[in-house]
Amino acid sequence: MNKRTLLPSLTLLVLSACGSADYASAPIQTAGLPNPVELQANAALDAVASDYLKLTLAMGEAEAGYVDAYYGPKELPEKAKVNPATLAELGSEISKLSSRLRLVGDDGLTPMLLRRKTFLQAQLKAAATRRQMLSGKRLSFRAESLGLFGATPDLKPLSSYDATLTKIAALVPGDGDLATRVDAFQDRYTIPKDKLKSVFDVAIAECKARTENHINLPAGERFTMEFVTGKSWSGYNYYQGNYNSLIQINTDLPIRISRAVDLGCHEGYPGHHALNMLLEKNLSNDRGWREFSVYPLYSPQSLIAEGSANYGIDLAFPGKERLKFEQKKLYPLAGLDPKTAPAYQALQEALTDLRGARFTIAKQYLDGEITKEAAIAATQKYQLVSRKRAEQSIAFTDDYRSYVINYGLGQDMVHGFIERGNPSADEKWQRMEKILSEPTLPGDLGPGD
Ligand SMILES: [Zn+2]
Repeated sequence: MNKRTLLPSLTLLVLSACGSADYASAPIQTAGLPNPVELQANAALDAVASDYLKLTLAMGEAEAGYVDAYYGPKELPEKAKVNPATLAELGSEISKLSSRLRLVGDDGLTPMLLRRKTFLQAQLKAAATRRQMLSGKRLSFRAESLGLFGATPDLKPLSSYDATLTKIAALVPGDGDLATRVDAFQDRYTIPKDKLKSVFDVAIAECKARTENHINLPAGERFTMEFVTGKSWSGYNYYQGNYNSLIQINTDLPIRISRAVDLGCHEGYPGHHALNMLLEKNLSNDRGWREFSVYPLYSPQSLIAEGSANYGIDLAFPGKERLKFEQKKLYPLAGLDPKTAPAYQALQEALTDLRGARFTIAKQYLDGEITKEAAIAATQKYQLVSRKRAEQSIAFTDDYRSYVINYGLGQDMVHGFIERGNPSADEKWQRMEKILSEPTLPGDLGPGD
């Protein structure tokens, strides 16, 4: 069970207003002819959205990395820089905007406008939480993740993952410490450095082709890919606006073959690049909703972004298709033996059952229940990685704290929403497109599974 804190009735409201038996199958709404009440409400939301945009840029001056993407007017970030707001000023601005938003009554709002309002409320709640943290307030892992991302995972004791470790041990026979065995096994699937670019190029092209079969991407869209070092993450999409992304891949640690499809889908298609483009096109450009020209990292938008990016891997490569593609195209390109691919794939699938252990470790570490050294040791044991990889994982937790929930929990929630009722492949893509094109919040997805 996942917590739903953001207007749990929103899905129902949207459901009845769409007049559809199934919210997920309702067509993507296009802007119709608005009535005067709707126009007035939209104008009030526009005014709040403009100030929310300035607030987010001001928060970005208080914390490097807070603004993940921005493609609005160039002069606004310059203004925020010249006159940086204090944390106290930011706090009072957040309160003012929240009050103004409450004054926009729900009556007369179309379902999409109601979602716009709810989205702004959720983003402001996240900004308030982050501002408190910047002011030195210590929040529990649970309070922090709920405040920033609108969801928190159910945590299981680490010992509940012991049975999974036993299962995985059978896949990687041998003596000695299991993490060392698994790491050594995975290292056999490393892409040689001089082949990285060609393997990634082919993988991303395939992720794009599979996405384009189902979703119209804006004309002129493009991305640039760079290999970088010295980061706590494995890949990052810096969305630049105008349907353009800079995708960076971190080569600090050897990159194994499965990461090509993982990162191609996650950072590219139908992941972050697609999400940002569809928000820019549908909400920022077509509707003029300026709040979508900025993306604050510590907000529910990130749960949707990471969750949809991770789920997008399985959506683009269902069943055995991923294994087939990797065997046919990527293994030969990387100089690896395609016959060994099924064993590697089986291990990758088994390792996903350990995903939740990362949350438990992050919670214990961030809540001060265990030391950094203990967190690294627990990561080695329950994520089955080398010391270096465990250190990178805890460095990520140091940098981004409860952000770690967005990957696994977000994926479970997006999966639950899209696959509810056993839909066809086309229907799954339609639901994905809705998530990527509308002001989606964790509460819109319903409980995960
Ligand atoms: Zn991501």
